[in-house]
Amino acid sequence: MHAFEYQHAETIEGAAEFLTQDNKAQLLAGGMTLLPALKSSLVAPTALIDLKGLIELKGACVDGDALVIGALTTHVEVAESEVINSAIPALTRLAANIGDAQVRNRGTLGGSLASNDPSADYPAAVLGLEAVIRTNRRDIPAAEFFTGKFETALQTDEIILAVRFPIPEQAAYVKFPNPASHFAIVGVMVVRDARGPRIAVTGASACVFRARELEDALRTDFNEHALDGLKFHREDLIDDLYATAEYRAHLVMAMARRAVAMASTRG
Ligand SMILES: Cc1cc2nc3c(=O)[nH]c(=O)nc-3n(C[C@H](O)[C@H](O)[C@H](O)COP(=O)(O)OP(=O)(O)OC[C@H]3O[C@@H](n4cnc5c(N)ncnc54)[C@H](O)[C@@H]3O)c2cc1C
Repeated sequence: MHAFEYQHAETIEGAAEFLTQDNKAQLLAGGMTLLPALKSSLVAPTALIDLKGLIELKGACVDGDALVIGALTTHVEVAESEVINSAIPALTRLAANIGDAQVRNRGTLGGSLASNDPSADYPAAVLGLEAVIRTNRRDIPAAEFFTGKFETALQTDEIILAVRFPIPEQAAYVKFPNPASHFAIVGVMVVRDARGPRIAVTGASACVFRARELEDALRTDFNEHALDGLKFHREDLIDDLYATAEYRAHLVMAMARRAVAMASTRG
């Protein structure tokens, strides 16, 4: 492991200043992705800027027609939040099924989004709900945030502060988890609101995506049976030891049906 400096961030401005001065420094949230990457020398930052003390980045509140969750909010805090559960119960359920207890205790919303792991759960929720990622510099719509495998629109000196989720009429997230890590082999977020149905898929491809043809099928009839007879197809589905591309295509349909059924009954 490479030597690095450790900085405890006192303020958001101070952390941003440090990143501006040293473009090889990296932010540290719960360390659930960063520390294993450091230990295996996949990354070699000159410094880690620990966000842990920035309590203003923690917690959730309803602001008008949206739910705002701070970037440093851990998965267990999301899973146990009554505010979040009342506004968007699909999010508490999603967070409760991330990884194991240790991962949920340390891992954060901001760290998950900044990592943009192809199998992570939150990207599907953020894209499906058409959330907005607020950073220290700008607001980034979800559709522009996830740019590729482990890649996002974030600049090297940009810090995610919070995510603003428009509160939908109905939403549900269902995944087929890897039995060891619980990352999604395929995870599907289904959302319904005044703008129509939306389906976002994670785990199936290198980057989260919207399944527009399934959304079209639900537009006139928001019912799992509206998906009957449809076959999902996409050229770039992942084909690996966990699932073939063909099986992933099948899982997209199966998870989408379950999520529509769950959204219809739970709201
Ligand atoms: C065994 C295991 C199982 C897991 N299972 C799942 C699962 O089932 N589903 C799932 O979705 N995820 C899973 N994860 C990932 C987990 O959810 C973490 O959220 C994710 O690893 C990010 O970790 P972290 O929040 O601790 O961020 P860190 O590891 O601290 O940071 C990750 C990256 O994000 C950057 N970063 C952190 N915070 C910010 C910020 N506010 N602004 C900008 N950049 C930031 C860091 O610089 C770093 O590059 C799993 C992880 C492990 C180790």
